[in-house]
Amino acid sequence: MKRLFILVFFLAGYSSQAADLRVGVARKPITPDLPFWLSGYASRDKPSTGALHDLWAKAMVIEENSKSRIIIVTTDILGLSREVSEDVAARAISRYGIDRSQLLLNSSHTHSGPVIWPALSIIFDLSPADQEAATLYTRRLADNIVEVIDMAMANLAPMQLSCGHGSAGFAVNRRQPTDKGMVIGVNPGGPVDHDVPVLKVAEPGGKLIAVLFGYTCHNTTSRSYQVNGDYAGFAQIELEKLNPGIIAMYMSGCGADQNPNPRGTVELAAEHGKSLADAVQNTLAGKLKPVRPPIRTSFTTAELEFAPFNLEKFRDEIVGTDIYKQRRAMLMLEAYNKGWDTRDFKYPVQAVRFNNDFSILAMSGEVVIDYAIAAKKRYPGENLFVAGYCTEVQCYIPSTRVLREGGYEPEESMIYYGLPGPFADNTEERITVVVSFVMKKTGARRSGK
Ligand SMILES: [Zn+2]
Repeated sequence: MKRLFILVFFLAGYSSQAADLRVGVARKPITPDLPFWLSGYASRDKPSTGALHDLWAKAMVIEENSKSRIIIVTTDILGLSREVSEDVAARAISRYGIDRSQLLLNSSHTHSGPVIWPALSIIFDLSPADQEAATLYTRRLADNIVEVIDMAMANLAPMQLSCGHGSAGFAVNRRQPTDKGMVIGVNPGGPVDHDVPVLKVAEPGGKLIAVLFGYTCHNTTSRSYQVNGDYAGFAQIELEKLNPGIIAMYMSGCGADQNPNPRGTVELAAEHGKSLADAVQNTLAGKLKPVRPPIRTSFTTAELEFAPFNLEKFRDEIVGTDIYKQRRAMLMLEAYNKGWDTRDFKYPVQAVRFNNDFSILAMSGEVVIDYAIAAKKRYPGENLFVAGYCTEVQCYIPSTRVLREGGYEPEESMIYYGLPGPFADNTEERITVVVSFVMKKTGARRSGK
């Protein structure tokens, strides 16, 4: 009698869960035609002529019904520009009647992917022909993302979602304190987050269809001139090999101050990819927790400010010897002369929550790990993954601690991103306000403290 009861209970749970959500996944290669300039490092002095593997745009649509759904897109590129992200969002909104909060765009931040033009244009000296190729690629990228969403929509079918966590140890804090201040190195005592969140998509019969997984670390293992997705690219390929027919999607965490360790070669990128894939594969084989509807989403923007600056600095830099500072100064003075406001900065933040089971806080830009650690602490019951590199990658997003400490992420990088200078002291505070706002909108519960 007891056994029968368990069986009936099991079947009832099984069928109601199976009918609850529909999921569609699809992927599309976005490898540029070669030769093509790769992004990520200012030191690159020639275009790429070869590829180790394809780069991909991948889409996963998860829906409860036509009103309640989330479209997640991952891309093997350095970062989407606002232009691409807004273009894709406008088209997805009109095609599918969604609102902005129902589209989550993420970039892997591979440093061996194509230039997105004119993002980070300060670090490049592209010929007019190369600029044209990069512009056409960027336009095509937006089309590709819309097309892969269409493909995923066409694949919607009843699925079971479940989630779990693994761990991979190759990320290390890269902000190393020295006599000369903070440098990019290895700081074994600095904060890290080795969590590997895993979202599994399976048919009601149990057949694995897709897996979405995350990690919090820069995709900077190699400085190759061969197109590749760095460790994230290798991890996705490995998982798709281990589980033929599935789609594996990588989502970046807040790894702005995290580097793979050791690093320097493509072989190491493959090795880190393998250890990440193993962490995901082991998690898939273990006991997972069901992920159920409702799906709730929220999206808003924070208004950030830069630390006060004056034009004198740019007048000095424009006649200085540093080519990157000269280019930045030119941008700033031209903007001033045209009356464009360079003091304001709009910062998108988004949250996605599946019942009490799994949540994603999706932050834009290159976000330092402090934000992920703080949010996980504030929402301990939310099974939260804090993603960075979402929506658009416009610059580094420092915490108060990192701003105070100085160094590449809060200061020097702003030159390459063509921004006036470091953010103001109130940056983390302002971001925390909008994080609370979007989390609350999705029904997330904060810790009592
Ligand atoms: Zn970066």
